[in-house]
Amino acid sequence: MLTDYHVHLRPDDEGTAAADYFTAGNAERFREAAEERGIAELGVSEHIHRFQQSLEIWQHPWWRKWATDDIEAYCGFVREETDLRLGIEADYVSGREDRIARFLEAREWDYVIGSVHFVRDAAVDLEGDQWDHVWGRGERADTIWERYFLMLAEAARSGLYDIMAHPDLVKVWGSARPGPERDPRHYYEPAVEAMLESGVAMEVSTAGLRKPVGEIYPARALLDMAVDAGLPIALSSDAHLPEHIGLGYDRALELLADAGVTELCVFEGRERRMEPIG
Ligand SMILES: [Zn+2]
Ligand SMILES: [Zn+2]
Repeated sequence: MLTDYHVHLRPDDEGTAAADYFTAGNAERFREAAEERGIAELGVSEHIHRFQQSLEIWQHPWWRKWATDDIEAYCGFVREETDLRLGIEADYVSGREDRIARFLEAREWDYVIGSVHFVRDAAVDLEGDQWDHVWGRGERADTIWERYFLMLAEAARSGLYDIMAHPDLVKVWGSARPGPERDPRHYYEPAVEAMLESGVAMEVSTAGLRKPVGEIYPARALLDMAVDAGLPIALSSDAHLPEHIGLGYDRALELLADAGVTELCVFEGRERRMEPIG
């Protein structure tokens, strides 16, 4: 069985109002794309920062800019007008665990995807504006990588999540940003240990193929560490358009087979089971 759980029904761009994208017709376009690619398990996971209620968690100016939608309208739409699993991509914000927990516990998800985009107050994957300063503060790449993976470990340990998304997102820019001098396995290790201890699954995401790095998340060495540790693996595309659904899955499936992964996580009501890839 193939899955695509980390799916956004709209691009991250300006002018993508909920009313235009959270429609039965748009959900159907994603479902059709999934069917064409043999993906039976399809769910959506809108970014938490697009909901007004996320400002109860964090008042970061970038969140304030985007927090326009109503979370109850989103959940109601997915449950009542689509046959998709209901998820959310909920950024981890250090020190705000209680607030994130309150937000998550108030709604009935099929799964909750945890992600780290911001290391402290700067995002590792945004550029071209004032939010790109994570790479522009004169800090060594090793320092940024170390902080990113320690934050991922902290997020995993919070117990808030079912899946940790795009686990090595910090590499998103590829050679356009400096890379670490140390063997990155040194940075992966605490994150893998935390995911193992908290029982959270790790995402294999083909989104990296569409990004400057041009690689699947995670790197092979991180996947190997996860497989050795026995971490459950979830497969997603992080689609923002119907044509992104399952994009690059041929390469992901090759990678998974080569790494010895034979089962994928399937979620319902925040219960996980493992299903053979097929
Ligand atoms: Zn993300
Ligand atoms: Zn996403």
